[in-house]
Amino acid sequence: ILSFPSFSQQAAHFESWKAKQTVHLKNVLSDPALEDYDVNYYELDLSADNTSNYIEGSGIVFGEVSVPSVDTLVVELDANLMVDSVWLDNSSVTYLHQNDKVYAVPVSPYNQGMHFSLRVFYHGTPDGGLFNEQYIPFITPYITYTLSEPFHAFEWFPCKQDLTDKADSVCVKITTSNDLKAGSNGVLRNTYTIDANTVCYEWFSGHPTDFYLISLSIGPYEEFNQYAHPAGLSDSVFIQNYVYDLSSYSLGDVEETAGLIELFSELYGMYPFADEKYGHCMAPLSGGMEHQTMTTLGYFETILIAHELAHQWFGDYLTCGTWQDIWINEGFASYSEYITNQNLVSQAEADAWMLDAHSYAKEEPQGSVYVPITEVNDEMRIFSMQLSYKKGAALVHMIRYLIDDDDMFYAMLRDYIQTFANSTATGEDFKIFASNYTGIDFTDFFNEWYYGEGFPTYSLSWWQADSVYFEVSQTTSSSNTPLFTIPVEFTFNYTAGGDTTIRFENNQQIQSYSVMLGQEVSSVEIDKYNWILNNEGSINYLGTGNFEHASNTFVYPNPCRNEIRIQYDNTQSIEYSLFDSSMRMITNGELNGPNDNIKMNSYDQGIYFLRLNSKEGSKIYKIVKN
Ligand SMILES: [Zn+2]
Repeated sequence: ILSFPSFSQQAAHFESWKAKQTVHLKNVLSDPALEDYDVNYYELDLSADNTSNYIEGSGIVFGEVSVPSVDTLVVELDANLMVDSVWLDNSSVTYLHQNDKVYAVPVSPYNQGMHFSLRVFYHGTPDGGLFNEQYIPFITPYITYTLSEPFHAFEWFPCKQDLTDKADSVCVKITTSNDLKAGSNGVLRNTYTIDANTVCYEWFSGHPTDFYLISLSIGPYEEFNQYAHPAGLSDSVFIQNYVYDLSSYSLGDVEETAGLIELFSELYGMYPFADEKYGHCMAPLSGGMEHQTMTTLGYFETILIAHELAHQWFGDYLTCGTWQDIWINEGFASYSEYITNQNLVSQAEADAWMLDAHSYAKEEPQGSVYVPITEVNDEMRIFSMQLSYKKGAALVHMIRYLIDDDDMFYAMLRDYIQTFANSTATGEDFKIFASNYTGIDFTDFFNEWYYGEGFPTYSLSWWQADSVYFEVSQTTSSSNTPLFTIPVEFTFNYTAGGDTTIRFENNQQIQSYSVMLGQEVSSVEIDKYNWILNNEGSINYLGTGNFEHASNTFVYPNPCRNEIRIQYDNTQSIEYSLFDSSMRMITNGELNGPNDNIKMNSYDQGIYFLRLNSKEGSKIYKIVKN
């Protein structure tokens, strides 16, 4: 008997597999000599099947020298793999394979601007990056597949693991048994017979591609193809799926893919690789991986399909510039799950998604979205579900809230994508771009929410007379971020029915407000529509109208002229705050004994509010100055 894990359980853990691999390399280039050239093109020519993860063949790096002169050319390749020979521009050369690098020594130095082709013949069984596994024993087939993010590409092919150096184009040739199919990036340019039992699949993509987005998947696939028809594209987008079989169990929600391509093309700009394809290769993952134009996917579930598809814009076409800025990829792909729910399911489903995202994010009350440099070798941290995905999505939602104009929000995203297309961006790049585009200064927002830690808790005290008066106090979950200055919405529910929601600036730990609503209010809610990642503290209703006397406390004379005296008969300390009629605090302090006074002679005539705080609670007095 087999127990099939439910899709929803898997979705909750989706992409957690990304963190299962061991750490090999740092965020920085593993050898400074890798900066001596720019990568133009990768060409892999590998033999493999689905019975093991043994591979053999060659990888070519075409590059252009970017320094005055080099006498050694370096590529990364795991020491675990056996190098058979190294060729530079079709000549066999001396090489050294150590420290997970191949150092090729040309006969004469290469000068700046010269192009080279460095080909490494190798074989072996990768200990990461390329796997041979089965999703469900005895049910789904063995698949050989790759998973290089964040820095495991060198474990299966010679490459330069530099996020900012995309290859202009990529060719992946896979020679395998002719009862198998092999999927990869771009278009299947050629399929040719090698011998009676062997076939070669030749894939090519003419789009700039980051090293970790190059992939292959090999298995006894069936092909299930469809087309998307995004508005504004005269042609259609080919959707090529390599699936376990054509049963409804395998295919799941795969037919949602076309509608999602159409939705995201409308919102984010045309699908970037429409001239090639989009597709999926099924593989034994508990989630998916957004390999460019050919996502590797464990199962077809709409939100998972949407997440990986959104990465084609946010991650592939436009890639994070450092792993510290993984938000550029995962924050926006995760927020695309919300957008999918909002556009294709319902606002209620989207609201539930955001509530769930917030509860994940609150599991890390001291965490930042930006990955600290000290943790950037920790793949668990880079792919933190709480911080990079869920809090990351919450940040995009708050940016949308601050822009407060969906047309502008989506237009900004489209322009942002085009500005950084085929290249990389950091959180800092996004901040500057968004500030310039919208005219909103996002500096404080990024300091508090991206580089800063945690989230705020808002508490509210309110009362009403002719106006509604309320005071908001803010605490935060991390002492490193003592204040969040995002404006907050308050919703006033009327006794007679109906409500009004108003957005107020909130940039002090304790801040007082008044608003004239002309109706009796029955309750006040903080951030009712859940725009802000926050906790709700206490909400205290202090009453209406009659502020004349608290027990055993006398505030007199009222009306007053030069001073008001406060008399009380206990010995505990009492703090006071005096507000003008707009609830701006004009003075505060601690009463000096049980018969103190507050000078009023310098203030204008009018209405004032005096609040007294003691351990017993808080009380507000309406004061008239004549
Ligand atoms: Zn993702």
